[in-house]
Amino acid sequence: MLRAAELIERKRDGDELDSDEIATLVLAYARGEVPDEQMAAFCMAVYFRGLSSVETYALTDAMIRSGETVDLSPVGVPCVDKHSTGGVGDKTSIALGPIVSACGVPFAKMSGRGLGHTGGTLDKLESIPGFRVELDRDEFVRQVGSTGLAIIGQTDDLVPADKRLYALRDVTATVEEVSLIAASIMSKKLAAGAEAMLLDVKVGEGAFMKTHERARALAESMLELGLRAGRRVVCEITAMDEPLGSAVGNAIEVREALATLRGDGPGDFTELVLRSATQWLVRSASDVDEAEGRRRAEHAITSGAAVEAYERWVAAQGGDPDERALPQAPVMRTVVSDRDGFVTRLSALGVGRAAAHLGAGRLRKEASVDHATGVLCFAKRGASVTVGQPLAEVHARDEPAAEAAIAEVAACYSIGSESPEPTPLVLEVLS
Ligand code: URA
Repeated sequence: MLRAAELIERKRDGDELDSDEIATLVLAYARGEVPDEQMAAFCMAVYFRGLSSVETYALTDAMIRSGETVDLSPVGVPCVDKHSTGGVGDKTSIALGPIVSACGVPFAKMSGRGLGHTGGTLDKLESIPGFRVELDRDEFVRQVGSTGLAIIGQTDDLVPADKRLYALRDVTATVEEVSLIAASIMSKKLAAGAEAMLLDVKVGEGAFMKTHERARALAESMLELGLRAGRRVVCEITAMDEPLGSAVGNAIEVREALATLRGDGPGDFTELVLRSATQWLVRSASDVDEAEGRRRAEHAITSGAAVEAYERWVAAQGGDPDERALPQAPVMRTVVSDRDGFVTRLSALGVGRAAAHLGAGRLRKEASVDHATGVLCFAKRGASVTVGQPLAEVHARDEPAAEAAIAEVAACYSIGSESPEPTPLVLEVLS
C-alpha cells in the first residue's frame, strides 16, 4: 500500500528513498493514483534536498517504464542520438545528422518544439514543405534502417510520466532542480533507443543553465545516468552567450545547415558540427583516432556525401529537399552599425527574443510559428565594424514587425573600441 505522504515527509527531511519507493510513487502518479498536489510537494522536497545518484536513476528508470520504448536493434548497427539543452540558432542536428550518417553511423533522434527565446528542431524541420515529423515508432525504425537518418517528434506513448511531471514542475517552480532535469531529459533519450548519445549542455545568458558550475552538474548527472543504463555517452558543455552561427529562425536555419553541409557555413557552427561528428566517428570504430574522425567528417562535406544524405533523409520524411522550396519572408531589412569599432557583445537572449517576436518562436506552448521569419547576424563578437555596415538582417512578415525587430536587434549589439578576448565555444567534453 503506497503511503505517498510518508515518502514526501522523508524526502522533505533529507532521507534517501530506495529505488522501489521512488518507482512505486512515480508509476502510481503516471497511472493517476497519486494526485498532483502530492507530486508537487514531492518535487518541492526534491528541489530543496536533491536526489542521490541512485534515486535519480530510479526516477529515470521508473519514468521510462511508464510507457513504451523504441527497439532500434532491427537497424543492425548501433545508432547515435543527440540532445541539446536548448539555445539560440542551434540547428546542429540538421547538419550533424547527415554528416554522421554519410560516414556510416545511423542517426536516430526524437526531438521537441521550441518555447520562448529558444528554437526547436521540429519547428525548423517543419519549415521544409511536406516534411513529416509525426512518424510512428515502426516507421521511425524502418527509416533509420533504410536511409540511416530520421528525426521525428516524440511519440505520445514514450515516457508519459515525464510529460505529466514536467507540466507539473512548470507550474510549481520546480523545473530548475538538476536531478529532475537530468532524469527528465535522459528518460526520453534512453527510451528512444539509441546505443550512443551526444549531449550538448549549453551555458550562458541564452541558455537554460546560466553558470558553468550548474552546466557541469547537469552534464555529470546525465552522463552517469547514460552509463548506468549501459549506453555510450559524450557530453559537451558549450557556450551560449551569443547565437550559434548566423541564422536564428526556422527556414533560415535550415538554409544555414544546408550551407554548412556544402562547406559554406559560418565558422563557429561548422566547427561545433565537425567536432561533434568527430566525437562519434572516434567512438564508432576502434581504428579511428581523432585526426581520422575529423578527416572523415570533413570528407563527407567536401565529397558531397553529406548533402546527398540530407536530400535522402528529407525526401524519405516527405519533404522537398530543394532549398528554393523553403519559405522566404516578404520583408527583409538590415540593422546597421552606428559607429566604428569591434563587436564586444551580441546577446543570444535578445536575438532569440527578437526572432520570437517576429513570429519565429512561440511565446505560448499552443502558439504556431511563422517559418519564414527570423534574424541573420552577420557580425558576431570580435568582428571589426564601421559606421553604416550591416550587422544583421531581420526577416519579417510586414514593415511594422521589421521596424520593431530592427530596434530590438540593434540593442543586442555592444560596440567598443577594443577587440574583445576570444572565448572558446566548446568549454568542456565529458565522457
Ligand atoms: N528539458 C527537459 O526535457 N526536461 C527538463 O526538465 C528541462 C528541460
